[in-house]
Amino acid sequence: MSGRTLIRDAEVDGSLVDVLLDGGRVAMVGTGRRPSAADQVIDAAGGALLPGLHDHHVHLLAMAARLGGVDLDPCDTPAAADAAITAAAAVASTADASEGGWVRVAGYDEHRHGPLDLERLDRLCGPCAVRVQHRTGLSWLLSTFAQREVGLDDAPPSIVERDRTGGPTGWVHRGDDWLGERIGHRDQSLAAVSRALAAVGITGVTDATAELGAGRLAQLERARGSGELVQHVTLLGVDEPAAGFGSGPRKLLVDEQLGLDPDALAGRIAAVHRTHRSVALHAVTRAENITAVTAILAAGPRPGDRIEHGAIMPFELDAQLAAAGITVIIQPALVGERGDHHLAVVDPDDLALLHRQASFLAAGVRLAAGSDAPVTSVDPWRAIATAVSRRTRSGASVGPAERVDARTALGWYLTDPTDPGGALRRVEPGAPADLCLLDVPLGEMLAAPDAAHVHATWIDGVMVRP
Ligand SMILES: [Zn+2]
Repeated sequence: MSGRTLIRDAEVDGSLVDVLLDGGRVAMVGTGRRPSAADQVIDAAGGALLPGLHDHHVHLLAMAARLGGVDLDPCDTPAAADAAITAAAAVASTADASEGGWVRVAGYDEHRHGPLDLERLDRLCGPCAVRVQHRTGLSWLLSTFAQREVGLDDAPPSIVERDRTGGPTGWVHRGDDWLGERIGHRDQSLAAVSRALAAVGITGVTDATAELGAGRLAQLERARGSGELVQHVTLLGVDEPAAGFGSGPRKLLVDEQLGLDPDALAGRIAAVHRTHRSVALHAVTRAENITAVTAILAAGPRPGDRIEHGAIMPFELDAQLAAAGITVIIQPALVGERGDHHLAVVDPDDLALLHRQASFLAAGVRLAAGSDAPVTSVDPWRAIATAVSRRTRSGASVGPAERVDARTALGWYLTDPTDPGGALRRVEPGAPADLCLLDVPLGEMLAAPDAAHVHATWIDGVMVRP
C-alpha cells in the first residue's frame, strides 16, 4: 500500500525541503509539513532526493537468465574462468541442475579468458550440457554433450560455425531463437533482477530486446502481474502496445553480418513510421551507423527515432543527427568494462570515434544512457563514474576528450522513457512518486559516484528498498 509518506529534510534541486508522497504522486515539496500529516515519515537527513533513474536499454530476461547461471565476468584470468566452468559442471552432474541438466555460462571474453574452443570446453565439463555465451550475447559455444542434446545437426546452417573439414566447431552465431526452442524457455524469476535495479535507484527500464515474441512477453506480463518486477517497463520489441507496459519505438537491427541495405532499411523505417511509431535502430560499427542515419534521413525522421549504441559514430554524421533530433542511446560503462578489449581490437582509425560522449553534446546531439544489461552491470553510478574518468578496468584511458562531468552523465538517466535526451524529470508536485533517496547530498555523490549511497527507492509512492 502506498499511503502518505513524508520525506523530511531532503535535498531537492539544491534546497532542503520536505516532500509529501500521496497516491503514487509527489503531493507537496516545501517546508514545515507536520509529521502527523503522513502515515510514514522518513528522515532524509540532508540526503539528495532524485527522480528515480531510468535505464534506457536493458534485456530483462537475459538478466534473469544470467543471474541463474555462471558469470565469467568477475574472472580475470583464463585459469579462473576454467575453474568457474568446472565447478558449475560438477554441480550440474551431481544435482538437479536448475535448467534441467543445462549449465549456462555467460560473459566469456577471449581477451581476458583466452581462446575457447570445443576441446577446452569438453575437457572442463565432461559429459555435461554446457553452453557458454560470448560477452556480446550474439554467440554460444556448446559442449559436445550439449550439441547432442539440442540436435545441432538439424540447426539452420546459417547459425552453425564449421571448420575446414565441414564439422561443427561448437559455436552457434545469432541462434538464440533456435536454441531457445530446443532448450525450452524456462521461466526465470525476475524478482532478483528487480531488486538489483531498485538497489541502485532505478525505477524504470526500457527493454530493448528486438523480437520479444509471445512467450517472452507473457513471462514479463506474469512478472509484472505478480509484483516480482516492480519497475516501469517500456518495450521496444513488440508490434502492438502491451497492457501494463510503456510502448517505445520499434527496434530494428542494422547488422553488418546480415548485410547492410540502406534502401530496404529506409522502407522498413517508413513502414513503422506509418503506424505512428518511431524506430530504435541497433547500430554499433561505423558502417552500421552510417547505414542507420542514412536510412532514417531517407525515410524522413520522426520525433523519437533513436540509435541504440552508436558505438563507432563518424563525426560527419553529427550535424544530421542533431538536425533530425535523433537520440543516441549510449552505454558509458562499456569503456570501463570492455575498454581494454576495445583498445586491443578496434581499428586505430575508429578509436577516436569509440563510445563518444562530449563531442556528441558539443554538436547538439541528444543523448541518453542504458546499461545494455546483462552486457554491462546495471549500476548507473559506476557508468557515471566511467563517463567522467573514461578509464578501463586496467586504468587505460579511452578517448579522454570525451569525458563529461558527473551531473551531465546523471542527466542521461533522468529523462522520460518516451523522450530520452529530452527534458530532465524533476521532484515537483504532480510528478510520479518514482524516487531515489541518497544518504549524501548530490554534490558528494557526484564527486565519487557509488551505488552504496542509494538509501531508498520508491516506485508509484511505494518504498521498494530497503
Ligand atoms: Zn542491447
